[in-house]
Amino acid sequence: MEDGSISFKPVSGNVMPRFSGIPTFMRLPHVGDPAGVDIGLIGVPWDGGTTNRAGARHGPRQIRDLSTLMRNVHHESRIKPFELCNCADLGDVPVNPIDLHDTLERIETFFRRVHDAGTLPLSAGGDHLISLPIMRAIAKDRPVGMVHFDAHTDTWDRYFGDSKYTHGTPFRRAIEEDLLDPKRTVQIGIRGALYNERDHEWGEQQGIRVITIDEFYRMGVEAVIAEARRVAGDGPTYISFDVDGLDPVYAPGTGTPEIGGFTTFEAQAMLRGLRGLNLIGGDVVEVAPPFDPSGNTALVGATMMFEILCILSDGLATRRGHGAG
Ligand code: MN
Ligand code: MN
Repeated sequence: MEDGSISFKPVSGNVMPRFSGIPTFMRLPHVGDPAGVDIGLIGVPWDGGTTNRAGARHGPRQIRDLSTLMRNVHHESRIKPFELCNCADLGDVPVNPIDLHDTLERIETFFRRVHDAGTLPLSAGGDHLISLPIMRAIAKDRPVGMVHFDAHTDTWDRYFGDSKYTHGTPFRRAIEEDLLDPKRTVQIGIRGALYNERDHEWGEQQGIRVITIDEFYRMGVEAVIAEARRVAGDGPTYISFDVDGLDPVYAPGTGTPEIGGFTTFEAQAMLRGLRGLNLIGGDVVEVAPPFDPSGNTALVGATMMFEILCILSDGLATRRGHGAG
């Protein structure tokens, strides 16, 4: 803008074609300082917590590219996120691809700065372990609730002997560290063969509401939305969306695919159904472009980020007294 201030609005596809320019999330301005940013879109290009097929480190760059297909108005809810809130691409966390513990600290430091600026984070991973240092930054004052879409509970304890930090353990650690309230946590889409028949026991003993994919289809989308809203309640709530919750037909580009998942439309319907919750941020993780050269999984990731951005911006604007209605 002429006065030097930042517009915090996406570049229109009618001004500059969508295939042109440097891709940022949703074609938003890329800014380094979160001051004045209501919702910051952040890349965490790191897959050092991956136990099997790596590749999610490449997620943010390809999600940014495909996110240039997003537009300004949600077609169903008519939410206009960029009119409700100042949104910006805050760039990538400067991770260390050869040091897990250093990277966990770097992610936490980055998100603490975002949190201290009063900015709500919406992140693109990266593998699912990134949710732990994000929570260390944004849930340090009080535990948060979570609506978690995934094929896996990610509440396992240790891998390869005594390794406590993998993309299969973030929410066990988050509960142990009092960052995540298990009684306000719902996990949707859980499936896949287990290591042990007691794998889900610990989480359920903590009070997590686990909705397996079998129960999801018995209940139907509307009943699952109602149950997720009941569990999350009125308190601060985080959304974590692992693309492997989707059937790999829709999202093959991921490290730990499990067949028999929900569809992209069912996922969109569930996210829209969370409108009005007290949302404080979210992430979309486990997009691994090397396993999907078509880019479709990254498009799915970008679109889920847009869905979350809509309900996040609506919630923030409503709390400030000028929501979309
Ligand atoms: Mn996961
Ligand atoms: Mn998963």
